[in-house]
Amino acid sequence: MSEASKTGNFITQIIDKDNETGKHGGKVLTRFPPEPNGYLHIGHAKSICLNFGIAQRYQGQCNLRFDDTNPEKESVEYIESIKRDVEWLGFDWAGEPKYASDYFDQLFDFACELIKAGKAYVCELNAEQMREYRGTLKEPGKNSPYRDRTPEENLALFMEMRDGKYADGEKVLRAKIDMASPNINLRDPIIYRIRHVHHHQTGDKWCVYPMYDFTHCLSDALENITHSICTLEFQDHRPLYDWTLDTLGTAHPQQIEFARLNLNYTVTSKRKLKQLVDEGHVEAWDDPRMPTISGMRRRGFTPASIRNFCERIGVTKSDSIVDFGMLEHAIREDLDANANRAMAVLNPIKVTLTNYPEDKEEIFNVGNHPKNEEAGTREVPFSKELFIDAADFEEVAPRKWKRLSLDSAVRLRGGYVITCNEVIRDEAGNVVELLCTYDENTLGVNPEGYKPKGVIHWVSAKHAVDAKVRLYDRLFSDEAPDAKHEGKTFLDFINPESMSVAENAKLEPSLAQAEPGVGFQFEREGYFCRDLKEEGMVFNRTVTLRDSWAKIEAKG
Ligand code: ATP
Ligand code: MG
Repeated sequence: MSEASKTGNFITQIIDKDNETGKHGGKVLTRFPPEPNGYLHIGHAKSICLNFGIAQRYQGQCNLRFDDTNPEKESVEYIESIKRDVEWLGFDWAGEPKYASDYFDQLFDFACELIKAGKAYVCELNAEQMREYRGTLKEPGKNSPYRDRTPEENLALFMEMRDGKYADGEKVLRAKIDMASPNINLRDPIIYRIRHVHHHQTGDKWCVYPMYDFTHCLSDALENITHSICTLEFQDHRPLYDWTLDTLGTAHPQQIEFARLNLNYTVTSKRKLKQLVDEGHVEAWDDPRMPTISGMRRRGFTPASIRNFCERIGVTKSDSIVDFGMLEHAIREDLDANANRAMAVLNPIKVTLTNYPEDKEEIFNVGNHPKNEEAGTREVPFSKELFIDAADFEEVAPRKWKRLSLDSAVRLRGGYVITCNEVIRDEAGNVVELLCTYDENTLGVNPEGYKPKGVIHWVSAKHAVDAKVRLYDRLFSDEAPDAKHEGKTFLDFINPESMSVAENAKLEPSLAQAEPGVGFQFEREGYFCRDLKEEGMVFNRTVTLRDSWAKIEAKG
């Protein structure tokens, strides 16, 4: 059983009760129903973990169903990305992926059935009139002048709509429910509209397309879904869901709503994510800064860390905002336990060991994981010239300095203790090289009375692998980029430091074999993985070692 299915919640309580009473014969069939109009994001991950997790918990099944009733906004690229992301998260859908468009013939027949029963009519009000007739939250709507057409007339007009006799928007099919209902969704909602557009699955077969509310409940019914789990904004649509299925006398899945995931420092609206891509604020949908599943994958998140996160945030009926730090905590926890360690110098300066023989080389066997011996060791070469990080040297040591400074000693991780004797600067005054000596009696031991203050990482210059390392940070600098801010949009809160690049990083040679996407802890720097997309030695920072944002907030 996956993490996602371990703990119960109010939905599993409903299912437990159904199983006790034998409501669905003990069967559990859920579905995840994305519209293929963008890439999936972390909010969808919650829905995926919930729907597939519940199916696993009850040895049931979960369908993947594309809710594809808006062909203009949808594409096969999105469909493929969604399948990839669900699989990557570790879930298996039942049978083949399904499409609402698979049911267009049946949906059309259902619409005809409603017409024949006097429960649907063809309406010719234009959009503006439609709005006016609909009424408001406080005032009831008015009946459309087309509401009393006979079933025969409606059926003939609906066939003509299907046969392409009318232009987009000229006519619609509406359910005949109640224009005075306090629930606006029941005021004769549109169930079919005319769109002369090509569909990615059905080609040019149709020029009338069913609306979401009509399609969704009937697709659930046709698939014999038992529990139709959706987010809270559909609560007000449930009476329409129920009306449609009751009126047509089909199978009747139970719609259950839960609170969507909201994450601070993040936007989770496909429309806004698309805008970030289309306007070039990020590189693509899978830019490692994006809260998309594909972006998180490239960033180095693991499926287990995302599943654990979704499990921990729980399933409730009231909206709340989850701290981004929780997501980062989940990935740190996974990588701390499972990622091998390696050394990488992001901003190198050269160290020459003046007392080390010119042509000598040694190989150190360094443990891959401090808490897991089974992770084994790797060979790290050592020689006369090394690189260390510029940030690890100060000529005059600040207070409590645990790194290298002039005339003091530091241990090289897995190697010797070295002492800096001379600093070489260029004409502009930048440190370009440190002349140091090593103590040959310090390999893996501290001789009596001799204790260097700190440990720093390093790589052997002649063995180093050149790399480009992208340091990613949160995409937004504001906690609520999405909220209303005077005269500003979410784009105004893009964090200008969301990506910086260490162009001349030097890696220990074992990293030349790193598999794309596999996480490493670069000692003292954070967690990184080789990019899944770009050729060559390109690494992405997944997350820092500690939550620097929490510190900033605490200080502020
Ligand atoms: P968006 O607002 O990003 O466009 P959507 O709800 O329109 O999202 P769909 O493709 O229709 O996107 O969503 C598929 C499923 O994922 C739906 O069941 C929806 O309720 C669920 N879902 C979408 N966003 C979230 C979220 N933030 N938290 C939990 N579930 C979500
Ligand atoms: Mg939706």
